[in-house]
Amino acid sequence: MEDYLVKAMAYDGFVRAYAMNATQTVDQAQRNHDTWNTSSAALGRTLVGALLLGSTVKGEDTITVRVEGDGPAGAIIVTSDGSGSVKGYIQNPHVSLPLNEQGKLDVSGAVGTRGMFSVTKDLGLKEPFSGQTPIVSGEIGADFTYYLAVSEQIPSSVGLSVLVDTDDSIKTAGGFMIQMMPGASEEVVNALEERLQHLPNISAMLDEGKAPEEILDFIFADETVAILDEMPVQFQCDCSKERFAAGLISLGAQEIQEMIEEDHGAEAVCSFCGNKYYFSEQDLVELKKEAAEES
Ligand SMILES: [Zn+2]
Repeated sequence: MEDYLVKAMAYDGFVRAYAMNATQTVDQAQRNHDTWNTSSAALGRTLVGALLLGSTVKGEDTITVRVEGDGPAGAIIVTSDGSGSVKGYIQNPHVSLPLNEQGKLDVSGAVGTRGMFSVTKDLGLKEPFSGQTPIVSGEIGADFTYYLAVSEQIPSSVGLSVLVDTDDSIKTAGGFMIQMMPGASEEVVNALEERLQHLPNISAMLDEGKAPEEILDFIFADETVAILDEMPVQFQCDCSKERFAAGLISLGAQEIQEMIEEDHGAEAVCSFCGNKYYFSEQDLVELKKEAAEES
């Protein structure tokens, strides 16, 4: 089944709702970065959360989420755009901790419970918008929820979930985001809170074969859910050899000369997707010429 996200509304438009199956997306990230189970869940949840948040901006616009906690996983950096593409990495992909008290992957143990959660939105304006809040749980979903409430003043509920198989592949991954629009009544808020408290894990619902639309139907029970839009999502990086070449040129001719003499070539690895680009000695000689011309 292909990954996709649905945008919907309920309660006469007073509630916005988003739900997504991102299993292939997170599986791709797991293979690219060779993440171990706890790192997979931490990175996967951040990828899903960034896609949900990214689906609220226009196609070309991007959002970058940084989760910088004090746990062994180190920083998690994820960028997504309004058309459903996401890329990202975790500083330490090889974290595998014992399960927590609930028998779940110990994401907060990997991420840490102190640090900063920040979001930068590049909306094509002169200055990017950015906001940050302290990490409140390290489980990621609650950190997105807290960020939205405090930094963007949108009362929300964000649920993010990744199920890792015994062979480290991703069995299911997905999430939802429910947002209250101004004017939503207390009754609506209370009814939803009640439903969300008893909601099974999204990854378990996906594992039962439920589609994102069905997850929303389940959350909203008897309430009518109007689907507004549906969009495919995928792990996709925009790196290229040309982009890394431009980076090498900006280092200057002398630096490139040193690479030629010491290593007779250079290898660049994209931290977002793990792709490797190799520059031969001949490539470097060309880039050195360009660097010399530019300076
Ligand atoms: Zn890349």
